[in-house]
Amino acid sequence: MLKELDTLPPRRTDLHGSILETIGNTPIVRLNRIAQDRAEVFVKIEAANPGGSIKDRFALAAIEAAEASGALKPGQTVVEATSGNTGIGLALVCAAKGYPLVVTMAENFSVERRKLMRFLGAKVVLTPAALKGTGMLAKAEELARAHGWFLARQFENEANADMHSRTTAREILDAFGGKGPDFWVTGFGTGGTLKGVARVLRAESPATRIVVAEPDNVPMLQSGIAQERDSDGRAVSHPMFRPHPMQGWSPDFVAKLAEDAVAAGAIDMFEPVAGKDALAVARDLATREGIFCGISSGATCAAALKLAETAPRGARILAMLPDTGERYMSTPLFEGIGEAMNDEEMEISRSTPGGRFDTAAPAPAAAQAAPTCTPEAAGMIDEIVAAHPVVMFVLEWCEFSWSVRKLFAAAGVPCHAVELDAAALQKDNLGSDLRAALGVKAGAPTIPQIFVGGQHVGGATETFDAFMNGAMTDRLAAAGLSFDAGKTADPYSYLPGWMQPRKIGG
Ligand code: PMP
Repeated sequence: MLKELDTLPPRRTDLHGSILETIGNTPIVRLNRIAQDRAEVFVKIEAANPGGSIKDRFALAAIEAAEASGALKPGQTVVEATSGNTGIGLALVCAAKGYPLVVTMAENFSVERRKLMRFLGAKVVLTPAALKGTGMLAKAEELARAHGWFLARQFENEANADMHSRTTAREILDAFGGKGPDFWVTGFGTGGTLKGVARVLRAESPATRIVVAEPDNVPMLQSGIAQERDSDGRAVSHPMFRPHPMQGWSPDFVAKLAEDAVAAGAIDMFEPVAGKDALAVARDLATREGIFCGISSGATCAAALKLAETAPRGARILAMLPDTGERYMSTPLFEGIGEAMNDEEMEISRSTPGGRFDTAAPAPAAAQAAPTCTPEAAGMIDEIVAAHPVVMFVLEWCEFSWSVRKLFAAAGVPCHAVELDAAALQKDNLGSDLRAALGVKAGAPTIPQIFVGGQHVGGATETFDAFMNGAMTDRLAAAGLSFDAGKTADPYSYLPGWMQPRKIGG
């Protein structure tokens, strides 16, 4: 029985000395709406790790083991081949500990992962998709050899499995009251989770059946076909490998740690999962359980739900959910999740009068008195315009202003930007005075306003149009400036998507 479901368990309430102390101790949660009554299905939500995935555990373990053995020296660069989650985990561990990190990653893994790693300060070196997982691994090895970097070797590093024995397995046993669940379901990428958890369950909960889920089109382990290696001991692409959507699962080879688990007899059953079922269950977990996870999580849970159909009545099944769904927005998981309102949302919008797109905009305010400004501000505007070949008056966080700045930057044209709302112009209301004077000079109250060679071009739209109709070429030439016309062919593309002309009113 679950205890005290009506009270919040005391979890992570301590003060932590660093982000690294928040790795692990992830929640185990019962599914209440998508699982049938016959068996209880639980999920272990690894998205609760600070980097959003199970691989934070390995990242911390690899770095700390290497520090302890002396394989990693202070300040030495760390390098690793990863489908993304290991890189994100390593990036946060390296950021917290002060190591530079270089990650090699096949170009076909989701862009969110690249950006996350770069955001966390790592360098991401892409490898061609055609070279598959083995290709990105070879590149990481080559870089480590050439530069004397520390290679984390997630596919064979014993610290990977050890961490899961020390943490993941213990958390499972504790949560299930010392005795494990009746079934434990996992997929495998490196096999670290599988090897590390399975050996503890075998020793301390021998009745737990260990179930390995594989993509239905990639039964590498189930096939029993041994992994071939070349003369350097490097795995070659496995004959059963096919592309599949469960990023992080089943790379194109069986890693050493996964082989170890097979050799130790750690696997009781296999459960093949179709890609479309993985996606469907990940969506069900989100919309019917409020559990937001990635595709391999959907796949593992799909295997657990399948098992639940035939498991002994009352059986308790635990599925690993390796990561969060947030890094899959550019993948098939989010297919059909639009940005614009769908018919149903439009219908809701139309059900009340306010805030609609399909009614006329409110009438403009009554004509205002002619704008005025101080002579000092007018003089300053004239001086600024005269002092630089290209001047743009902008607001710091205005999207039109950004777009014009990006356009000139891409074209390679140096501009003098005056941020009228910057903190530096707040004193004595200078920014507002300048804005009023600009309004008089430009004959328009809108921002940005652009001047080239002392002449007024206009606002964002007039500037974009001037690039398109060639007028800007002449103006810049007259001011002694040239630019990269290849970058300015579609100036409107520098606007955010929601502002682009074809979308307005569409
Ligand atoms: N799912 C995802 C999303 C992953 O990133 C990984 C790690 N590659 C796994 C599953 C598999 O975990 P392990 O490497 O421990 O086998």
